[in-house]
Amino acid sequence: MNIEEKISFFKQQLPEKTTLVAVSKTQPVASILSAYHAGQRVFGENKVQEMTAKWEQLPKDIQWHMIGHVQTNKVKYMAPFVSLIHGVDSIKLLKEIDKQAQKQRRIIDCLLQVHIASEATKFGLMPDALGSLLSEATDAFKNLSIKGLMGMATFTEDKTQIRNEFSLLNTLFQKLKMEFSQLEILSMGMSSDYLIAIEEGSTMVRIGSSIFGPRNY
Ligand SMILES: *Cc1c(COP(=O)(O)O)cnc(C)c1O
Repeated sequence: MNIEEKISFFKQQLPEKTTLVAVSKTQPVASILSAYHAGQRVFGENKVQEMTAKWEQLPKDIQWHMIGHVQTNKVKYMAPFVSLIHGVDSIKLLKEIDKQAQKQRRIIDCLLQVHIASEATKFGLMPDALGSLLSEATDAFKNLSIKGLMGMATFTEDKTQIRNEFSLLNTLFQKLKMEFSQLEILSMGMSSDYLIAIEEGSTMVRIGSSIFGPRNY
C-alpha cells in the first residue's frame, strides 16, 4: 500500500469518534502531501523546529500537533499556529504556553501527559498530580485549554500489560471528566498498540510508521 492507501485504510478502520494523527516526524514534505491529498489534515511532529519549517511550506489548513516533549524556550516558535500540544507535564510549561498564546491572541489547546508506563525514563505526570494541576491551571491560565490526557504504554510484547496501562489512563480520564467538563480527548495508541488503545477508550491515535514506513533519521 502507498501512503494514500494507508490513510484510506486507517480512516475505514478507526471508529468515527477516533481522530487519526498522522505522525510525520523525520518524513519529507512530499510524503506529507501524499497523505494530505488522501484527505488527511492532522499531522504530528515531535520537534518544534521541524514542525515550524513544515508549517511554513505546507497548506495552511493542516492542523499541527506537537506530540514530543517541549522545552519552554521553544514554545514561542509554535505558538502562532500549533493546534494541540500533547506532551504537557509541568506548571512551568503551561505558564509559558499561556504567555505565548496571549501574545498571539489565541487560546492553545493542550493535553496533560500522564506517566502510565513501567519504564522510569518516560515523561509524564503521576496520576495523583492531575486533579490539582487541572484546578490550578483552569484558574490561572486564560489563554490555554486543557482538553484531555495523553499517555504512552510500556514498550513491551506483553499485550496484557499494555491493555492494563491504557485501561488505567481511561479510568483516570473518565473520573476527571466528571469534575472538569472541558476534557474530551484521550490520546493513546501508536502503530504497534492502537487497536488495544481503541478498545480501551482512545479518542485519538498517533500513527507514524504504519502510514509512512520507517523513519529517516
Ligand atoms: C513517534 C511517535 C508516535 C508514532 O509512533 P509509530 O510507532 O511510528 O506509530 C506516537 N506518539 C509519539 C509520542 C511519538 O513520539
